[in-house]
Amino acid sequence: MATLQLQNIVKSFGPTTVLKDVNLSIEDKEFVVFVGPSGCGKTTLLRIVAGLEIASEGSIIIDGKDVSDDHPIDRGISMVFQSYALYPHLSVFENIAFPLRVAKRPEDEIKDRVHKAAAILQLEERLEHKPGQLSGGQRQRVAIGRSIVRNPKVFLFDEPLSNLDAALRGDMRVELSKLHKSLDTTMIYVTHDQVEAMTMADRIVVLNGGVVEQCGTPMDLYLHPRNKFVAGFIGHPKMNFVSAMVSRVEDRMLHVQLQDGGLMSLPVACQNIKAGDNVEIGIRPEHMQLDDNGPIAMHVEVLERLGAHSIAYGKVNGDNAFCASLPGMAEIPEGTTIKLNVKPEDAYVFDADGLAQQR
Ligand code: ATP
Repeated sequence: MATLQLQNIVKSFGPTTVLKDVNLSIEDKEFVVFVGPSGCGKTTLLRIVAGLEIASEGSIIIDGKDVSDDHPIDRGISMVFQSYALYPHLSVFENIAFPLRVAKRPEDEIKDRVHKAAAILQLEERLEHKPGQLSGGQRQRVAIGRSIVRNPKVFLFDEPLSNLDAALRGDMRVELSKLHKSLDTTMIYVTHDQVEAMTMADRIVVLNGGVVEQCGTPMDLYLHPRNKFVAGFIGHPKMNFVSAMVSRVEDRMLHVQLQDGGLMSLPVACQNIKAGDNVEIGIRPEHMQLDDNGPIAMHVEVLERLGAHSIAYGKVNGDNAFCASLPGMAEIPEGTTIKLNVKPEDAYVFDADGLAQQR
């Protein structure tokens, strides 16, 4: 059992404040992913939870107990680093056993716990090897094994897959999700990769500039982003944004004109938006359809054929970068202009402050 509360966490390095009043509550056995662009403060937040960094203000509560002043070792937490931090001269067995040796556990117990961890991670055949004889994915599993043997209440992962190639990252994502199910423990995972966040998290925390922009399930964030930042960060390829002018506001219906003349009527409940205002329309690439009568005219510059679908990259409204993901092997010559449509209920509207209007 391990619940975690992060209460009013502020962190400054000298004059620079990198975390600004972060509040979060993490449930027992939850897999929570902190995601955000480089420098947003996610690693610092994770290190504060681990006790490797002390918050300037605020408290860390684990299972109802304030551990803010506790030493990292006394928090029941284990952290897996991006760099693996393995000892090259020690065997896989001894690398995994390391924290148990430091804790002076008896030999029988060490053997038992290392073999159990190795079985979970499919490393039994490798226990006598040295880290240098392993693949990147196997090395990462050894680092995780070293965490598992400590039976921590909470696992922390700091970008553990970023040194792996794309194919291996995909495999390890699945393995980490399985590991979470089999260990049934609370996990916090830091990444800048929204695909990792979407595929592994029970709940995603989107950080930006030291502030939590939004926190919710992956589909919550994908379907109901609170603002333009979250909308642009979650989803791949990224959501398109197109400037438009509001021509008319009705109850739950907004009529807009795109810069190059296309008209759209969108079922949103607008707050503080009136005729004449400028808004941005957000459209996910996967929601575009080819339609000769569609309101969006896209000049196609590059077409990527991926087999199951094709991705067109180009411009709308003159110089506005735009991307459309189209099913199948779309035959669109590069350099041509295509007309696109989107179901009104799939489009988002953001006001001048970047806030999403309710749909
Ligand atoms: P990345 O994905 O690039 O690792 P991040 O979101 O994990 O980024 P942090 O490593 O938490 O970001 O850093 C947040 C900010 O705090 C950055 O601007 C960084 O330069 C600064 N920072 C982190 N550690 C220190 C430190 N020890 N001293 C001074 N500034 C620091």
